[in-house]
Amino acid sequence: MVIYQLAMLKGLYIIIFVFLLLTMRGLLFDIKRFTTEDGPGIRVTYFFKGCPMSCIWCHNPEGIGQESMKVNRVERVGSARFTKSEVVGREYDIEELVDVAARERPFIEQSGGGVTFSGGEPLMQSEFLKRTLIRMREEGYHTAVDTSGFAEREHFMLIMPHTSLFLYDIKHIDDARHREFTGVTSKRVLENFDFLVEGGADIVVRIPVIPGFNDDEESMKAVRDFLGDRMCDRIKGIDLLPYHRTGSGKYSLSGREYLMEGKKPIADSQIDAYRSLFSAILLK
Ligand code: SF4
Repeated sequence: MVIYQLAMLKGLYIIIFVFLLLTMRGLLFDIKRFTTEDGPGIRVTYFFKGCPMSCIWCHNPEGIGQESMKVNRVERVGSARFTKSEVVGREYDIEELVDVAARERPFIEQSGGGVTFSGGEPLMQSEFLKRTLIRMREEGYHTAVDTSGFAEREHFMLIMPHTSLFLYDIKHIDDARHREFTGVTSKRVLENFDFLVEGGADIVVRIPVIPGFNDDEESMKAVRDFLGDRMCDRIKGIDLLPYHRTGSGKYSLSGREYLMEGKKPIADSQIDAYRSLFSAILLK
């Protein structure tokens, strides 16, 4: 009798677990196919809505808020202008995300690609992210998580075993400057980076190079020194991402002020000089 009751209980747990899996939903604001800069090969990149930072140069300001939102776009046809309303942010269940990747599977497989979870900050929906990573791995996909690094340690612990590669942003070492331009402390970002390195995660570091924020030698050298002290074979690359104005037009749509107005892109020669700072510390 006791064995029968235990079996019933176990069956009930399995049913609840499967039910939760099928009904679990995440809020995304975009899905891009054929991406080539979010990890190795050709990928599908999923953009999760919600970010704890508010970087003044953000290219996806519509992805910062944690709720879906209605925006009005002004469109032109000839000399006529009309306003089109659309909602940014839509809930998906895990199987819908798997289906998107399935359609690109031949390209993903031939190129050694996979799927990438970006945002916003995907770790803000860590339970959904974890379940999705597990499902994608079951399907045989290489999984990457593109993170700002500003998340609870427990959330990193949840997803770490299911993530093939982290794309990890380091924006500035100096805490005051980081707070001023992103709204949050750099300390948590740097501590979480150490946690991932010590935990043996594979990481590609990404450094946005932003005029007036970190486009000076002192800031770049501080990042270089921080990384230099931690170099190991788990750090697979260091990418510099030069500032561009893409996304500036989205600020008024998302009710935010674009504070980078008038800032010019950084010269290629300057970016090359910073790249050589970092290539000197990369393990060959
Ligand atoms: S961390 Fe990324 S997504 Fe979040 S505000 Fe900054 S640039 Fe935008």
